[in-house]
Amino acid sequence: MATFDAVVLGAGINGITAAARLAKGGWSVALVDDHDRIGGFIAAEERTVPGYLHDTWSSWHPLFVTGSAYAAFGPDLHRHGLTYANTDGPLTATVTDNGTVALAHRDVDATVAGFAEPGDRDAYRSMIDRFGAHAAGIGGLLGIDLHTASALRPISTLARSAGRAGLETYARDALTSGRAWMRARFAGAETDQLWAPWLLHGGLTPDSASGGLMVPVFAATMHGAGLPVVVGGAGNFLTAWEAVLDELGVTILTGHKVQRVVLRGGAAAGVAGDGFEIHAERAVLTSTTPNALYGSLLPKTAAPSEVVTAAAHYRPGRAAMQIHVALSGPVPWADTRLAGVPLVHLSDGSSSTAIACAEAEAGLLPRRPTVVVGQQHVLDPTRVPDGGAALWLQLQELPFAPYGDARGELDTADGWDRKLIEGYAGRVLDRLAAHAPGLRDLIRAVDVIDPISVAAYNPNALCGDPYAGSAELDQSFWWRPLPAGGHATPVPRLWHIGAATHPGPGLGGASGYLVADRLTTPSRPRRLLARLGRA
Ligand SMILES: Cc1cc2nc3c(=O)[nH]c(=O)nc-3n(C[C@H](O)[C@H](O)[C@H](O)COP(=O)(O)OP(=O)(O)OC[C@H]3O[C@@H](n4cnc5c(N)ncnc54)[C@H](O)[C@@H]3O)c2cc1C
Repeated sequence: MATFDAVVLGAGINGITAAARLAKGGWSVALVDDHDRIGGFIAAEERTVPGYLHDTWSSWHPLFVTGSAYAAFGPDLHRHGLTYANTDGPLTATVTDNGTVALAHRDVDATVAGFAEPGDRDAYRSMIDRFGAHAAGIGGLLGIDLHTASALRPISTLARSAGRAGLETYARDALTSGRAWMRARFAGAETDQLWAPWLLHGGLTPDSASGGLMVPVFAATMHGAGLPVVVGGAGNFLTAWEAVLDELGVTILTGHKVQRVVLRGGAAAGVAGDGFEIHAERAVLTSTTPNALYGSLLPKTAAPSEVVTAAAHYRPGRAAMQIHVALSGPVPWADTRLAGVPLVHLSDGSSSTAIACAEAEAGLLPRRPTVVVGQQHVLDPTRVPDGGAALWLQLQELPFAPYGDARGELDTADGWDRKLIEGYAGRVLDRLAAHAPGLRDLIRAVDVIDPISVAAYNPNALCGDPYAGSAELDQSFWWRPLPAGGHATPVPRLWHIGAATHPGPGLGGASGYLVADRLTTPSRPRRLLARLGRA
């Protein structure tokens, strides 16, 4: 039994940033996780053939490098060896079934130069410029607890830069789907083809509300920050964090599965599991889903019944599959421009991606899945042997418990068994090979992580959902994790962080950082008293 100022449960990016910020504020901290290394959905492994290093889960760091945790700890992480590889040229592309390619470069002008409709060039530039003009307000809202008075600050920043009409426009955008938003503004197909598939990375579909807000956020963030990957693989990100946490005196306790939050006098006082109990004098932060927090980690009576009920209603989004492929040579793209693009989508834009999402939501394996093709070795060749290549394929339109195949070919009667996993991975590889003739001859090994394995790896991945809960509008922003509140919970000294809380999934680490920042930043009256004391 050990005692700390704070215990942080869950060592994903939010647990890490919380622990680091608390320790920097002078608190003693234990960071607890059931895996044998920190990171959660951050890891790198030789999953196919020795010499091929794959980012098992997350890989792209635009959200991290634009977030507050990076602003605070970036110099320390770089001092401990973190190096990014990024693109200055080709950024992302979409190849449609008929082989048409829409290509975005870091440079906005180079991107719009490829647009067929002259009017779309100005519309695209103004989408990026408008976000740039209001980035401080929008970024502020995505990095703050919306249930606190501090949320008024970014709102007033946004009101000052956008005006009342601008604020109202943003509210409308947040109620609009990405497909509808782009259809209203662009005559040609390029913007939709490029950015509709990116909505999947926010847990949305092209027809989900809030896409109208998120399309410009995705596009502007990526043009601005690129698609950084960690040189030498995501494991080096963790190595740098481990050194920073060590320097700050954080105690890392891996291999500890927490079964309950310890309560004393109704307030959180630690966490406990099989054979261990860790005490916290000042705060317990849990990076879990609301379902786990209120359903099993806390006694049912610890929180008001409406909170427990709302937590039980918190629902997962679609499931995901990850496929890693080792290739003996470069990807033989039919359109050779794609060879230099770090991240390519196979999609027809909103049309095919929305249908694939609808099929998955209906329990069917999509006929024409959107395939996310990551080519990290284009940015960081150290991950593959000389002359080799590797593919990081992500599928985000899958049912956790399939009951049919939209193509009527694969047998789903036994769920995700080996035959179905291989059959579906085959469909994905065929789809890719249609744009890269000869691809199959270059394959040295394939590693597939099916939805059941995603869920088994991380209890936050409810039903194989990589984003810890549906990110539809009713479960986002003000309403994430629950309508009843933000990061503060009804249990004194217990704080909720992680992808299931605002601002949601991704590697920004914002929820952990902002809660820890709030806990370690003296209140305004205290600051005033301290100043008076000094005078
Ligand atoms: C395949 C995949 C690809 C992705 N790609 C990207 C990407 O490229 N860029 C990006 O920005 N985002 C990406 N994401 C999303 C991003 O990785 C996640 O949103 C983010 O890592 C979640 O961080 P988190 O802090 O919520 O914690 P998690 O990463 O979910 O980690 C939580 C940790 O807590 C542990 N834990 C939970 N309950 C307990 C318990 N009771 N006891 C002990 N330990 C417990 C879990 O085991 C886990 O280790 C991807 C996600 C997946 C799955």
